[in-house]
Amino acid sequence: MRLLLYRADGNTAPWVRDLTALMPALEVLAWDGGAVPACDYALVWGAPAELLVQLASVKALFLAGAGVDAVLKLGDALPEVPIVRLGDAGMGVQMAEYVVHAVLRYFRRFDDYESQARDGVWAPLPLADKSDFSVGVMGMGALGTPVLDALAHFGFPLRGWSRGARQRDGVACFAGTAGLGEFLAGTRVLVCMLPLTPATHHLLDRAMLEQLPRGAYLINVARGALVAEPDLLALIRSGHLAGATLDVFRNEPLPSPHPFWGEPRIAITPHISALTVRADSVRQIVHKISALERGEPIADVVDRTRGY
Ligand code: NDP
Repeated sequence: MRLLLYRADGNTAPWVRDLTALMPALEVLAWDGGAVPACDYALVWGAPAELLVQLASVKALFLAGAGVDAVLKLGDALPEVPIVRLGDAGMGVQMAEYVVHAVLRYFRRFDDYESQARDGVWAPLPLADKSDFSVGVMGMGALGTPVLDALAHFGFPLRGWSRGARQRDGVACFAGTAGLGEFLAGTRVLVCMLPLTPATHHLLDRAMLEQLPRGAYLINVARGALVAEPDLLALIRSGHLAGATLDVFRNEPLPSPHPFWGEPRIAITPHISALTVRADSVRQIVHKISALERGEPIADVVDRTRGY
């Protein structure tokens, strides 16, 4: 059985080693241009269209990431084969670490204390009432769910928004366009964990962000283009929003100059909220290949019509 491997960063050797260690029957071929040999499966990250068009006969095309927007953008270049993304694979706990940190930093006013400390000021500040400090997670999927679970330990009122109706203990659940207004109106910290699709592109524009209560805070760890960046900046400057923690941007790396760099109420990280964990990813992909070989269904097959 053969698997074709491509990584835009060229770092294929450890992937070849780990894949063959877990599945010795798998011959892993790293592609570095030219004609693609006959293969049963492909595993790619950042693959060019020139490669993807040659993968029409693989049984499945695995992506070494959770987001599929960049691949689906290639449209007609994509082969008509099942596309399989990573589901959690070690990213859920990283997202939980990142989001919990950002929520607690805002709730416990650590930015204010850091600023006071720089000025040599010793002054306890009033704390928000936790029962009023609701955290709303947009996207209750493979990554949104562990974030909600992690936040549950701190006793914040939790809300979740998804496309289809969901139920989760301890989480007020809202769904679809019909539930969005009520979800936003009761959310003090909005955590964006949605996939970028035609339905979610620029979803968080002025009209949506204005529905958050005054003083609300945004955390975006999904994709930059979910947010209309000028609208976010205007609402922070007007005081409607208290600030934002952003890991993802419309253009990455975030260009310099960009008004976000100079805005002290925006915390910036360089798309690091959840990195691919090779060992977990390889284990998951090998498990899925084994299931496919046995003729069993697998999770995380991308629905191209939905866009995620
Ligand atoms: P999933 O596909 O598992 O979950 C997506 C969730 O979003 C589901 O709950 C889904 O609803 C909901 N959703 C999708 N479209 C809509 C819509 N139009 N309206 C309302 N809800 C919607 O994705 P993951 O949790 O695995 O990943 C989420 C995103 O995180 C990825 O697409 C990727 O872009 C981003 N990401 C960012 C990383 C980073 O380092 N910054 C790392 C990894 C991922 P339903 O439950 O009804 O299907």
